[in-house]
Amino acid sequence: MTRALYAGSFDPPTTGHLDIITRASAIVSELVVGIGVHPDKTPFLDADTRLELMRQDCAHLPNLTFTFYTGATVRFAAECGAKVLVRGLRSYADMNAERGMAEINRREGYDTLFLLANSQHVNLSSTVVRHVMDAGLSLDGLVSPRVAEALHNKS
Ligand code: ADP
Repeated sequence: MTRALYAGSFDPPTTGHLDIITRASAIVSELVVGIGVHPDKTPFLDADTRLELMRQDCAHLPNLTFTFYTGATVRFAAECGAKVLVRGLRSYADMNAERGMAEINRREGYDTLFLLANSQHVNLSSTVVRHVMDAGLSLDGLVSPRVAEALHNKS
């Protein structure tokens, strides 16, 4: 039994995030999706909404748990009993940003499973979605229909 933790801000969740969740959940026996909450920052979508949207979009996957966390990801991994961390890699820039953290986490006893982003998601990020939304452009393919509706209702 390998329980893994996929942590992120998911603000908002994109189809790239959903793809990583789907693929990781097929590899590990249990996947905890940890939604990072930063009490001193105002989120774009509030944490409860992010969690509920992701939970509904992933309702067909049997081995997922969604939860909030604050503080260091590796500490939360220990709390929730995860043995491995999952991250998505879109580019060399992602890899450069991730490798330092992965090394620190490995020193703490947690290895990281990196999944390469699908080619249609390599330029996709929550920031891109926020810009597209601010510009009033189509969110098709960037987020799920459920997330698109929540974003439209928010504006
Ligand atoms: P963080 O603030 O921790 O970077 P994000 O929500 O931006 O949180 O991303 C969480 C994880 O998902 C990270 O590992 C990131 O590299 C990965 N990720 C983000 N966007 C994509 C995408 N389009 N395709 C694949 N992985 C992605």
